[in-house]
Amino acid sequence: MSEYRFHLQKYRPGSKTTCPNCGKSRCFVKYIDEQGSISFPGNVGKCDHENSCGYHYTPKEYFKDNPVVLEMDEESGKSLLSAPYKTADKTPSCIVPSYIPSSYVLRSLSHYSINPLYQYFCHVFGEDETDRLFGMYRIGTSLKWGGSAIFWQIDINGQTRTGKVMYYNAETGHRVKEPQAFVSWAHSELKLQDFHLKQCLYGEHLLKNSSSPVMLVESEKTAVVMSHFSPIIYGWQQVERTVVSTVKLCRFSKAGRLLSSLI
Ligand SMILES: [Zn+2]
Repeated sequence: MSEYRFHLQKYRPGSKTTCPNCGKSRCFVKYIDEQGSISFPGNVGKCDHENSCGYHYTPKEYFKDNPVVLEMDEESGKSLLSAPYKTADKTPSCIVPSYIPSSYVLRSLSHYSINPLYQYFCHVFGEDETDRLFGMYRIGTSLKWGGSAIFWQIDINGQTRTGKVMYYNAETGHRVKEPQAFVSWAHSELKLQDFHLKQCLYGEHLLKNSSSPVMLVESEKTAVVMSHFSPIIYGWQQVERTVVSTVKLCRFSKAGRLLSSLI
């Protein structure tokens, strides 16, 4: 039996899952309770990609963020906070984010004739409205898979954190998920050295000088579609999976106030 009550799960085939922060597969190790009474949610764990991602959400942080878990039993709650737990390695608590040069973003804002999402939007909303929406969110085109969409994550200061590359069916507007996921990241495709990924809200650049209310949605495409129907709706990605880490990330930014109702 381990001397630590809470520790990272020992490796066995299939035990590593997709990281909730960087989205890479088979690199995320979850924390487990040696005594088996606490079952941590899937985002409590550590990513193998320490430099490029650096995600590490410990049981101690989880208990602090979720005091209700401790309140359920005051006696054991106190012992939970002071229980020894093992963090495999020390990781920097504050990683300076890397940025993608704007020249890459600008260059991608073209070749819309091979961008399946652009084609679908033109069919549904018309070319003028599609140009407006794509310009607003700066959606680019990647040559990957013969033409796919890039959803650039541009922060409130106009700096590009990364871009999510996704392939769509131009007829239905749905993502193509067979025979593979057809999802990639711009920083991976560009093979940028020592890249420190720190994601931001998708559409965060639209929040600058704006006091409009904000709605959070799960996917980038939904954010863009909803912006057609309502000018005040901006998006966020993967709300459920990364809510805790991302709220922390934003607490110190101007966007933090917009998330307070979510906590
Ligand atoms: Zn990761």
